[in-house]
Amino acid sequence: MNRDLRIPDGAASADSRLMQLQSRLPKVGTTIFTVMSTLASEKSAVNLGQGFPDFNCDPALVDAVGDAMKNGFNQYPPMPGVPALRQAIAAKIDKIYGHSYDPATEITVTAGATQGLLTAIMCAVHPGDEVIVIEPAYDSYVPSIELAGGKPVPVQMTLGADGYQVPWDRIAAAVSPRTRMIMINSPHNPTGSVLKPADIEALKDIVRGTEILILSDEVYEHMVFDGARHESVCRDPELAARAFVVSSFGKTYHVTGWKIGYVAAPAMLSAEFRKVHQYNIFTVNTPVQHGIAQYMQNPAPYLELPAFYQRKRDLFRAGLKHTRFKLLPADGTYFLCVDYSAISSLSEADFAIWLTAEIGVAAIPVSAFYQSPRESGIVRFCFAKQDQTLQQALQRLAKI
Ligand code: PMP
Ligand code: GLN
Repeated sequence: MNRDLRIPDGAASADSRLMQLQSRLPKVGTTIFTVMSTLASEKSAVNLGQGFPDFNCDPALVDAVGDAMKNGFNQYPPMPGVPALRQAIAAKIDKIYGHSYDPATEITVTAGATQGLLTAIMCAVHPGDEVIVIEPAYDSYVPSIELAGGKPVPVQMTLGADGYQVPWDRIAAAVSPRTRMIMINSPHNPTGSVLKPADIEALKDIVRGTEILILSDEVYEHMVFDGARHESVCRDPELAARAFVVSSFGKTYHVTGWKIGYVAAPAMLSAEFRKVHQYNIFTVNTPVQHGIAQYMQNPAPYLELPAFYQRKRDLFRAGLKHTRFKLLPADGTYFLCVDYSAISSLSEADFAIWLTAEIGVAAIPVSAFYQSPRESGIVRFCFAKQDQTLQQALQRLAKI
């Protein structure tokens, strides 16, 4: 690539030279979520692809944000976030997971989890550092590592009768002197699997005595089913001491479009995090922070979330039992993966397109969550939908 940016003779060639930007992310196209949502709307398909609820949030939350606007909370908040919100987040974490973060120095409000993940990576990963990524992996992880100049080291989950599992022996084998970070995600998108206490122990054994950081994506922390508990890494003091814990109000409060979340990390890590955060976005919009701070005083909305989504999961699973899809376990998140190999031998991407265009139900190919091509005959459905939406999708899927 020619990086000489002197303007050559003639306006036309100057324009063409200026367009020759050396891509920071040459392998990246439009995200699969956008691609499938666009196709779903073109084909008037029921959109069970991109993960977002098709129902509204609690009006009390909208009122709380509206009140904050009316009460004049409309100028810049402090850089790490509105103190009342940071206090509410710290209090919630302490109550549920028993870890006490200092809201002044250890909690930072972010513009959604995506920014929190990118900022954590940018502040911690230097060019040449390796970051272990467990695949299938949420699509922002690898590009974020690459933007920091890091090297993603993928390790693939295994798929057996118990669904997807993390092969900790392979993670241990992937650790090298250059490993700076291990990224984990539980409850897991797209597989719906959740880490168990034994997984946390295995992770601890791997990082003990090393300088490896943990970046723990816990955006679905309040969606764990069948009475199981969410194994936040911050429950464990040893892991909490080396972890960035990321969450998103978009998932918890049915407001994915608000793009607000937070990152909890020990003071030394948070200090570096905030250095990047303040020159990346500086801070997150004020009235939404005040509104959520007030709304969080009542824990019921997030404490009731597992039952709320478990009912939808069960309704959707019960309906799918009448189809030719093979259902994979769904222990957390609002996603369900299905094996379609009894129905079609198309690639996952082609099957998702066919399902959207011909059957009228959009899904996400799980292959989109891998760096190198991998076909397992599995697609992901999102069941964060009104019951009638799920019923409509089930009627269509039953015809296959
Ligand atoms: N991580 C995972 C695993 C996700 O599924 C999502 C989904 N949207 C995000 C991060 C990003 O969250 P946000 O919209 O708050 O940026
Ligand atoms: N997290 C959502 C999903 O997995 C989508 C987020 C996005 O569109 N980038 O479907």
